[in-house]
Amino acid sequence: MKYCYECGTLLELKELEGEGLIPYCKGCEQYRFPIFSTAVSMIVENPSQNKILLIQQYGTENNVLVAGYVNKGESAENAVIREVREETGLTVQSLRFNKSEYFPKTNTLMLNFSCVVDSENLDGLSEKEIDKAQWFSVDEAAENIMPNSLAKRFLLNFLNTEA
Ligand SMILES: [Zn+2]
Repeated sequence: MKYCYECGTLLELKELEGEGLIPYCKGCEQYRFPIFSTAVSMIVENPSQNKILLIQQYGTENNVLVAGYVNKGESAENAVIREVREETGLTVQSLRFNKSEYFPKTNTLMLNFSCVVDSENLDGLSEKEIDKAQWFSVDEAAENIMPNSLAKRFLLNFLNTEA
C-alpha cells in the first residue's frame, strides 16, 4: 500500500512506539496498517471425533476443508459456526483454534479451527457451494486431502498436536 486508502496521500514511514516504522498519512494523521482479508477454515469432526469431513468445490476433485471469509464486525469463532452451517447444514458443538497461515495468492490470513458438529448427516449440504462432501477416517483424511495445500498443512498440524 503506497497511498492512503481514505484520501490518496502518499504514505510515509513513521515510528510508532513499540511497533517500529509504520506507513503514516499526514493528511488523515493516521497510521495505515497493511490491509488483508481474514478467513477461517475448519477441520470438521463427527460427534465421535473419529471422522473428518472433506469437501470438493468449484468443479475440481481436490479434497479440501470447509472455509469462508470472516465478515466485518464478526468474530472468527462466529464465522466458523456460520460457515459450517451455511455450507454443510451442520451445527458446531465445540471449536478450538489450531493454526494460522498467510495465503499470499488472495492476500488472506487463514485461521484454522477444529470443530465438532452435531451429526454426520449431510442432507443439508449447500448444493451451490459444495460439489461433494465425504466423511473420512482420520488416516484417510490425511491421505486424501489435497497435496501441498494449506489445508493439508493445517490438518497435519492438528493431527500432530492431538497425538
Ligand atoms: Zn489519508
